[in-house]
Parts: sequence; structure tokens; C-alpha cells
Amino acid sequence: MLKRLKELAEEYNDQVVILRRDFHSNPEISWNEVETTKKVAAFLEKLGCENISTGFGGTECGVTAEIRGSSEGPCVALRADMDALPLDEENDVPYRSVRKGAMHACGHDAHTAMLLGAAMVLSSVRDQLKGTIRLIFQPAEEHGLKSGADHMINEGVLEGVDVIAGLHVWSPLSSGKIAYRSGPVMASCDAWEAVIQGRGGHGSAPHMATDPTIAAANIISSLQSVVGREIDPLDTAVISTGKIEAGSAFNIIPDRVNLLGTTRSFKPEVQDRVEKSIGRLIASISEAYQCRAEYKYTRYVPSTINDEKATLMVREIGEELLGADNVEESPLIMGSEDFSYFQRKVPGTFFFLGTGNPDKGTDNPHHSPHFNVDEDILVSGVTILSAFAWRWLASE
Ligand SMILES: [Zn+2]
Ligand SMILES: [Zn+2]
Repeated sequence: MLKRLKELAEEYNDQVVILRRDFHSNPEISWNEVETTKKVAAFLEKLGCENISTGFGGTECGVTAEIRGSSEGPCVALRADMDALPLDEENDVPYRSVRKGAMHACGHDAHTAMLLGAAMVLSSVRDQLKGTIRLIFQPAEEHGLKSGADHMINEGVLEGVDVIAGLHVWSPLSSGKIAYRSGPVMASCDAWEAVIQGRGGHGSAPHMATDPTIAAANIISSLQSVVGREIDPLDTAVISTGKIEAGSAFNIIPDRVNLLGTTRSFKPEVQDRVEKSIGRLIASISEAYQCRAEYKYTRYVPSTINDEKATLMVREIGEELLGADNVEESPLIMGSEDFSYFQRKVPGTFFFLGTGNPDKGTDNPHHSPHFNVDEDILVSGVTILSAFAWRWLASE
């Protein structure tokens, strides 16, 4: 069957490339994917998909649809994100972004096009499908605080879903390869904030004041001991201080210091520990220096944790399609991805489709104004997504 799905993906490839270029030319940033949503929904309707629903998170953005097979069975969800990033494109290509301040610099244009490709392939074989495919076109992966995935899940897109798969085009990985990983693969992304309150005074009379900068300086250096001394060395975490705000002049001891930073980790238990330990150090060090502290920890995106069975299936399909030499285990990635929200509800797998090709200039970093996708890989993405859905339904 893989051969048949691959033939279909090849047959539809020209359309997938046209779709990808259209999305690329007309990028829409997080929670503004209104035109993209309309185009995707119209395409799915023409294809004969069922239960098409649009508009999530109180916006007009986001689409779900179903391809129902000839008989009852499990439900496999396939997900693509649709949002662009707020930057100007610097690529000189015919399909360059026509919008100032918006560019598909992460490859989500390719994700949307590939999922529409998979919808074409799976619709062509729908009479042989034993179950349902739910297509999820998600807004706002890049937003951070208001995650498109989180909102769609709260509005029921995972109801009845047994497993979910998604992919990311990946410029650090060579074109023609895929990378998989069971268990944790991408980090969680959180923010922490502290206000250290002292008592301001004259720079010449520190004994008359309570200097919060001394407490803050100690906090900043002590936070690194959480990773070094409190986390299992075989696990990993990052704590960074990104912003320090205090003071107004050289001869004034400031009243307060504001600190802002981020943390990354893979395991939920490590994330819990990091949150607690940062709070403990901020409170106790502030107290030691006679200051008061407020602490806030905000969880942005959980870590991406792949299901073993689903991941093995992607690996097998990849090896059959591309050869074992072109299928690698992914390293752990410190970046984060809101696909993780889906995986907290149902088992799922998120894998990487290499798009790095120096000859084509498609090896620039994600989020760079020079980022571009090697379009020759789209057909593999369409085939693997289709084959995953097909094989999961056939195996259950
Ligand atoms: Zn991105
Ligand atoms: Zn992305």
C-alpha cells in the first residue's frame, strides 16, 4: 500500500507545490490566519471532506475536517500549523512574501500544503479506509502564550481521536532524511519573573537603605546551582535570566529590581523542580538581604513527548520509503512546539522532515529572513503522513 500512497502523492505533488507557494506569498501571523483558513476550508470542501469546522479561540482562524472511511474504526488525527512569523522576507524568489512584517520563516506553509496533499491522497483511497481521519489545521503555533493547539483542544478537536501525528520541516537535517525520537524530544518553554523589593536611598549611605541589587545579583548567580546541583546530571534543564531592570542614576540605590527569565526542560518532574527551586532561592536570598520578593512562574508550552508505538510506525514507514540510511534518531531539541498540548491528551508522534540542502540555500536556520524549504521533500512528507494514518487504521 505504501507504493500506492507514494504514487498518489507524486501525482498530486504539483498541486502541493502550488499551494505551498500561495501560502508562502500570503503569510499571516498567529491568530490572523483568516485568508489561509478560508483557502484551506474551501479546498477541503471541494475534496468532499466531512464535518468541516472553522474558527477557534474566538477568531476566524483554524480548520478541522474529516475523511470517513467505508467502515467504522479508530480515528487518526493529522495536524499542520498554519502561522507565519513577524519579520520581513529577504529571499529573492518568485513566491516571496507580499506582506511587510510577515513571512513563513518556519515552514508552516509547507506543513499546511503537505496536509492538504495527504487529504487528497487519503480521499482517493477513502473507500478502503477502516475508520476516520481527522485533519487539524491549527493557527498560532508561534504565539507562545495563546497557543492555537491549546485552544483547539479546549474546543473539542480531539474528541474521539485515538492517535495524532505531525511533522516539522527541519533545516538542520539534510534533505531526503527524516528524524524520529521516542519519549521526550522537544523542551518545555516557561517564563519566570521576580520583583525584589528593598528600600532605596543615597548611593553614599548604603547603611540607610536596603539594597535590592545585592539580593538580585546573588539570585542570578545562585539560580545556576539549580541545574548544576539539584537536577539529575543525566536529565537536563536551562535557566536563563533575560532581563534585569533597576535604578535610575549612578548615585541612587534603587528601590526594587525586576528580573525576567526563561527555563527549558524535557521531563515534567524536572520542570516542577525548576519552578519550585527558583522560587525558593528568590525568597530565601531576598530575605537574607532584608528584601521582600514576589515570584511568578508561567508555563508557556509543555515538552513534546512522543508515544513509542506511533514513533516506531513513522520510523518503519520512513525506512521503507527512504531507506534505513535516511532515517535517524533525532537529538533532544531545546526549542519547543505546541504539538505537545495534543500529546497530553492522546498518544502522538512528532517527527522531522529534513529540508537542509546547501546547494539550494535551504539550510538557513528556522526564523531567519533567509529560511526556505526544499520543495523536493514535500512528496515524502505527504506520503509519510498518509501512510501513518493508513497503517494505524489497518493495524487496529
Ligand atoms: Zn517556529
Ligand atoms: Zn515551527
